[in-house]
Amino acid sequence: MPGVRECDTVGAMSNCLFCRIIAGELPAAKVYEDDQIVAFDDIQPQAPVHVLIVPRKHIPTLNDLDAADGPLVGRMVQVATGIARDRGTDTAGYRTLINVNEGGGQSVYHVHLHLLGGRQLQYGLG
Ligand code: 5GP
Ligand code: ZN
Repeated sequence: MPGVRECDTVGAMSNCLFCRIIAGELPAAKVYEDDQIVAFDDIQPQAPVHVLIVPRKHIPTLNDLDAADGPLVGRMVQVATGIARDRGTDTAGYRTLINVNEGGGQSVYHVHLHLLGGRQLQYGLG
C-alpha cells in the first residue's frame, strides 16, 4: 500500500526498531511496561521529560489502527498521564503527540505517543 512501510513483527527477525526494543534485543531506558504497552525515554530528548509510549502490537502508523485498537490507544494515553504524574510534570503541564507519516514528522514506523514535559513548551507548526 503506498505510504505504508512494511515492517516485520517477529522477534529476532524484526527490522522494526521499537519491536526490537520491546523484545529486549536493543537497549532502552524503560520507564513502564505491562502486557500491552512499553514506555522508554527518547534517545534524543526534546524536553527534560521525553518518553515514548509504545504498544507491544506492531502498528506502523495511526492510519493502520483498526476498530479494535480503540482501547489500546486509550490505554496509551492513560500510561502517559501516569508517567507525567510520576515525573512531576502533571500540574505544570505537558504535551502528548503522535506523528503520522513523513509529512507529520514520523521517523519510526511503529505507533508511539510522545510525552513531553519539564519545560515550557511553545506551540509550533514547524
Ligand atoms: P517520530 O519522529 O517517529 O515521531 O519519533 C521517533 C522518536 O524515536 C524520536 O524522537 C527519536 O529520537 C526516537 N528514537 C529513535 N531511535 C531511538 C532509539 O534507538 N532509542 C530510543 N529510546 N529512542 C529512539
Ligand atoms: Zn514494530
